[in-house]
Amino acid sequence: QRKYPHRIDDNVAIWTEFRELGDRYSCLSLGEGAPGGNPPDFLKDFMIKAIDEGYNQYQRIFGIPEFVNKIADVYGEKLKRQINPMTEIMVTAGANSALNSYIIGLINPREGEEVLVFEPCFPQYQDHIQMAEGVYKAVPLEWKENRWTFDPEVLRKSLNDKTKIFLLNNAHNPTGKLFNREDLQILTDILNEFPHVIVISDDVYEFLTFDDQQSSILFASIGNNFEKTVSIFSGGKLFQATGWKVGWSIAPNEILSKAAIIQCCTTYCINAPAQIAMSRSFDLIETMPYTEGRTFVQNMKKEFQDVRDFFISQFNSISQELPVVPLPSESGYFLMIDITNCKKIIPERYLKSHDFEELKEGQSAVSRNIVYMPDGSVPLDLAFCRWMAVEKGVIMMPASLFYHKESPIRDDKYVRIGICKGLDHSRKAFDRIKGKQ
Ligand code: PMP
Ligand code: GLN
Repeated sequence: QRKYPHRIDDNVAIWTEFRELGDRYSCLSLGEGAPGGNPPDFLKDFMIKAIDEGYNQYQRIFGIPEFVNKIADVYGEKLKRQINPMTEIMVTAGANSALNSYIIGLINPREGEEVLVFEPCFPQYQDHIQMAEGVYKAVPLEWKENRWTFDPEVLRKSLNDKTKIFLLNNAHNPTGKLFNREDLQILTDILNEFPHVIVISDDVYEFLTFDDQQSSILFASIGNNFEKTVSIFSGGKLFQATGWKVGWSIAPNEILSKAAIIQCCTTYCINAPAQIAMSRSFDLIETMPYTEGRTFVQNMKKEFQDVRDFFISQFNSISQELPVVPLPSESGYFLMIDITNCKKIIPERYLKSHDFEELKEGQSAVSRNIVYMPDGSVPLDLAFCRWMAVEKGVIMMPASLFYHKESPIRDDKYVRIGICKGLDHSRKAFDRIKGKQ
């Protein structure tokens, strides 16, 4: 018996509806976090070379030795300990596949085990928890005094004997929050009171911090946290190659082996030439001057930060016509805007119901986002994003869909803007938002 009444594709619909609207209205996308830039040339060259060298067949399921050895070196330093490359690292088909394997591998569906997350959160978490037949539980992140914050007491009260996993995402999608040392210490202290809880730390945006801040502090690097933590990383993000779908996770073997069982029977081994290319490019992205004296990673940070600053200044400059408030992000692929005051300017048909012409039955390959707020209204952010797509030709993501459909804390006043598309693309998109085309 499934715990949730909704189907798996309820969350999938968030990506597909806006992709389809984007195609139909030739939109410029500020939606899905697919970067506008390319991976570095050396990564592509190493990939071709690896194919020529014969890395074309199945390999060691949990990662080619050359690659896991490299990961152990790089993250051993960050985690301040020796990592065993053969027993404590698992290479996966992107971070998403790691999340899926760990959550399914760790949850016992018969026991009503809970997974606690901060909301809003990356929507796929909901799907993984649902597939594992775990119980999804959320603690709110709220924008207060210029920061996304959480209430430690609410978090403490949400943990209990049934909590199996605490799922942290630092840096955070969709808010761009960077959990600083103080935040992480509070989390560590609270979680120490519940020693049976395993932490999954989704660290895919770890290197992408702004305003000269160091990379995010890995939760597993604090105190004894390593013993109970799975750290998850994405080669797609680090090398700006999201379509390559390579990720890796680091965890004590006792935890990792639970996920390894799932990985064996789902993806089996991972794209071999991409693993070789990434292992040979690791040092280069952080050390070799790539563009204007900056390394590949430094350059990526600068480009994303420039786009973030562009959007903040531009949205502020048109606040009379489009009364949105941009909320500065500290890291990652996105920033949020507060659209509370836009209700009066969104055309009625988007606000009234889900049944507007452009989304009529039969036009969409998959289900639409038929979701309502508890008062029965169409979420404001969903109406805003449909209006932007259909009438302005720009895709953005409604953040209410980053809350569970039945979550008591679901908010519909935020829209997520991608800052990963480059300045030229972002300028063009903003011209459309302003109505200049
Ligand atoms: N975690 C978060 C927070 C993400 O935003 C994403 C999507 N980009 C992923 C995991 C999945 O990463 P990957 O593409 O490596 O599967
Ligand atoms: N993670 C990307 C985002 O948040 C989307 C790709 C995906 O994994 N669904 O936009």
